[in-house]
This record gives sequence, structure tokens and C-alpha cells, in this order.
Amino acid sequence: MERAKHTVYLDHAATTAVDPRVVEAMLPYWKEHYGNASSIYGLGRDAHRALDQARQKAADILNCAPKEIIFTSCGSESDNLALRGVAFERQKRLKKNHIITSPIEHHAIVHTVEQLEKYFGFEVSTVPVNHFGMVDPADVERAIRPDTAIISIMFANNEVGTVQPIAQIGEIARAHKIPFHTDAVQAGGAIALDVKAENVDLLSLSAHKFYGPKGVGLLYARRGVPLLPTQTGGGHEYSRRAGTENVPYIVGLATALELATQEMKASNARIIQLRDRLISGVLEGIPESQLTGHPTQRLPNNASFLFRYIEGESILLNLDLAGVAASSGSACTSGSLEPSHVLSAMGFSHEVAHGSLRLSLGKENTMEEIEYVLEILPGIVEKLRQMSPLRTPA
Ligand code: PLP
Repeated sequence: MERAKHTVYLDHAATTAVDPRVVEAMLPYWKEHYGNASSIYGLGRDAHRALDQARQKAADILNCAPKEIIFTSCGSESDNLALRGVAFERQKRLKKNHIITSPIEHHAIVHTVEQLEKYFGFEVSTVPVNHFGMVDPADVERAIRPDTAIISIMFANNEVGTVQPIAQIGEIARAHKIPFHTDAVQAGGAIALDVKAENVDLLSLSAHKFYGPKGVGLLYARRGVPLLPTQTGGGHEYSRRAGTENVPYIVGLATALELATQEMKASNARIIQLRDRLISGVLEGIPESQLTGHPTQRLPNNASFLFRYIEGESILLNLDLAGVAASSGSACTSGSLEPSHVLSAMGFSHEVAHGSLRLSLGKENTMEEIEYVLEILPGIVEKLRQMSPLRTPA
């Protein structure tokens, strides 16, 4: 087996390289148009114009008004602003103390909800997911109480790629007049997001998942949805998020979102072809392997697996030696012995959940790279299984 001459990057769910066209669009806002967007002289007005244009672009793509877009520093901030902003406001004004969420959210939601519960007097209902990681909208409806402050269910899962029935959940939330937030960080750039069609009141995005820069995100907050700013100071972002706007990054986000939207159809068609070859190749070539996440309602770029008897982390190290960058849902990678909360919520035992591998594809991947992975992965899995104390010899 020959080592790949370059890194075969299959971790696009973690982050993406910045598209050179995005870099090009950002550069002038460091070099020539470096003004503070709040300043009244020419340089400031240039920056402010760029900000307005970026806001308009994002709003056009998401099908909302520009004033409903709040630029943030990342997806985690957008999630925090949505949850805390709505929960605190409705708690104070209406005595609403209840939050509904799912057990497979990103930690930006999970840990925020935990904190709201532990320190701020909220009660939390976590609706179940099935074996594919899918939420049943009927369960969301059943969890609604008179004091529900907010519902937050992610659009698409970062580990297993399952895409939720967001429009249906949104319809239920709206019928009960409860603000509905969706963390669409993984869906951004991969799925056409229309906030009206999806019936969402708040939606989080992060640029670095769709070939934009790291450290910039946005929150769509529907007009009329009460939102207490979590970061106070100046009147930036229509007084909903204080802090001098990072104009180059915001321009980068809007450009990346525009390119991803324009190229989505063609890009997804290519990526799905690669993904499906990868999935069938792995399942056919490796015994006791299985796909995780929903078989059809999944992100175009997500191929995630479980391999019995072995640790995801060991697979990653071996893949790295062979020049392949991938990820595991197993939290062992972050120094904890706990398996992925996502796989556990989907009903996989700890032992099984430890053997997870996520391969997330992107627009620069080629069929040659996929064939290379299919050539090396069975050998890596077999080698690790031979050393595994969990496997009883045949
Ligand atoms: N939500 C989801 C579903 C994610 O996958 C991520 C990042 O991986 C985040 C939120 C956090 O985004 P950021 O890294 O921009 O803070």
C-alpha cells in the first residue's frame, strides 16, 4: 500500500479550507478599507457598506430581512445567543422556565442548556431520538408545556449526519407560539436553508464549515422574537450583539455562503457520488461494520461508521499514519473515556459506540482518494481487531 502523497482530508465536518475566492474578497478589508464600520468618515462608511452588503447577501440566501441577521464570532456564540437570549427574556417577562432540546445536539447547545438548568432555574425536556438519530416531531409536541420558553433542535447532526424534520417541528412550535431555534452549523452550505419554509425563528451558522474563515458566524433571529443580548456594550448589530464588527471575516462569511449556495447542486451531486462509493465500499469490504445515522435523510458529505471490537481513536491514528485525516465520534479523542453522547442517545452500547469513525467529504475530494481509503481501511481495522481483547478468537 502506497502512502497518499498529500493529506487525504476527510474531516470537513470539523472545518474546511478557506476558498481562495473568499480570501480574495476579504483582503481589501484589511488593507484598504480597514475602517471601523461605526465611524462616520469615508473609511468607516466603506466598512459599513461592506457590512450592509454582506448582511443583504446572507438575508437573501436565508430568505429573511437583513435586520434579522446578527453576525457573531462563531457557531457556538450564535447557539449561546439564541438559547440564553430567548430563555432569559421569556423567563423574566413571562415566567417561562422550560426548555425542549434533543440529546444529540452539539456541545454548544448541550452545555449551555446544562448551565441554564443548573444555575438559572430552567427545567429541560430532552426528546428521544431513534436508532438513526432522528427526532419524532410528535415527541416535541408532547414535551411542550405552558411554561416552555424555547425549543432547540439541530438541523443536521455533526457526528452521524442525520437531518431532522425541521419544518415539521417548526410548524408545531409556531402553533404553540414557542420560539424555535435550530443549530444549522453542519447544514450551512450543504442544504438550501430557507428560514420561512423551515418555520424557524432562530438559526445558527458558522462560516468555517462552508469554506469561509474560522471565527465568524451568524444568527438569524426573526423580527419580533424576544432576544436579550448576551454581550452588552455598543449598539452594534442593531443592539443585539455588542463589539466592533470583524468586517473582513463577515465579508468572508457572506462570500462563502454565496459561493456555496451557487455551487451547491453540482457540488452535492459530486460529493454524494463519492460518499456513496465510500459507504458501500466500507460496508462490503469490512465485516461487522455498520453505517450510523439515517440511510437517506443525511448530510451529502457524511459517511459515519461503527466497527466492532476496536477504538475509533486507534483507527484515526492509523489513518493519520497513512495520510488520511478523519474524526471519531468517540470522546476519547478529547481525553474523556465517555463514548459519544450522540451514539449513546441513538441506543448504541458504550462498547460498540467506541468504535466510531466519521469521514466527512468536501468539494476537493476525488474518487482516487476514496479508492485509496477503501484500499487501506480494511487492513487497519483487521490489524486492530487482531490486537483487540474484545474480540473472541474464531
Ligand atoms: N454546532 C454544530 C452542529 C457544530 O458542528 C459546531 C462545530 O463543529 C458548532 C455548533 C460550533 O461552531 P463553531 O466551531 O463555529 O463555534
